[in-house]
Amino acid sequence: MHFQWYPGHMSKAKRVMQEDMKLIDVVIELVDARIPLSSKNPDINQIAGNKSRVILLNKYDLSDDVQNQKWKEYFESQGYIAALVNSKKGDGIRKVNDAVITACKAKIERDRKRGILNRPLRAMVVGIPNVGKSTFINSISGKASAKTGNKPGVTKGKQWIKLNKSIELLDTPGILWPKFEDQRVGLHLALIGSIRDDILNSYSMSLDLISFLTTYYKGALTERYGITESEDAVENLAAIAKKRACLLKGGELDLEKASGFLVDDFRNAKLGKVTLEFPPETESEAQGEENDNSISE
Ligand code: GDP
Repeated sequence: MHFQWYPGHMSKAKRVMQEDMKLIDVVIELVDARIPLSSKNPDINQIAGNKSRVILLNKYDLSDDVQNQKWKEYFESQGYIAALVNSKKGDGIRKVNDAVITACKAKIERDRKRGILNRPLRAMVVGIPNVGKSTFINSISGKASAKTGNKPGVTKGKQWIKLNKSIELLDTPGILWPKFEDQRVGLHLALIGSIRDDILNSYSMSLDLISFLTTYYKGALTERYGITESEDAVENLAAIAKKRACLLKGGELDLEKASGFLVDDFRNAKLGKVTLEFPPETESEAQGEENDNSISE
């Protein structure tokens, strides 16, 4: 499913989200583990204000295990409670309850001091289109879920899903929009299939992907297509076209068709688990490296 962004959609989505924010204690933000930066909208910080925050690296079944851990640590260093989830298969979903409770520790403590016990935490899922919000909500609510319906003091029409005795989830997620502040954001969203292909042509997209893979995931193209990887992206694409017998009528290589194969293979993780974006260095790592340098000197 593809999604088009119109300014009207965006401002309405933002308004609805800001209203819903008043009803909740904790924001559960989903990002795509293959592109945690491009699939995250920084405006959520302003919208969420001082609500407790959980971030889920969804679709971690498709992304690089090493980078998954680094991203988790990175987000934790930024004050989030972070977890890896595969909403489609349900992996990691059970840990989300604990993550929510940990994120709301201060609030639970405040309530307890005021003598308020057992008030359920209210959560809301947010994220850009296609990040897996609906799949996640279905997965975490499972079969045992019960819609608690309208309650006094709750905006008419809002449905809450009771996850357990401590957490209720708003059944409609908040829709954020990607922030196309640099070209890579559009490219990465197109590569994972989140925005329409026709915005960027698959030929130039695949050349970018090839350059990235031959730099950071050496051997991935050889493994999949049996080609010898060269430093020239077009040469690699031509080699893939040859191996896959992508030919035009006159017998010339059909690079456009080969690009399509490549991008599809990437989306389906047939090139292995690949993460397209690496986390900025955290402070402790940077210091660790400084120390390493001083030791080696
Ligand atoms: P929404 O627009 O944010 O509600 O996204 P959807 O829930 O509709 O999911 C978009 C697509 O991603 C669907 O095809 C889902 O099956 C797929 N999807 C969601 N979560 C995961 C996941 O953890 N792993 C994988 N491989 N696919 C997922």
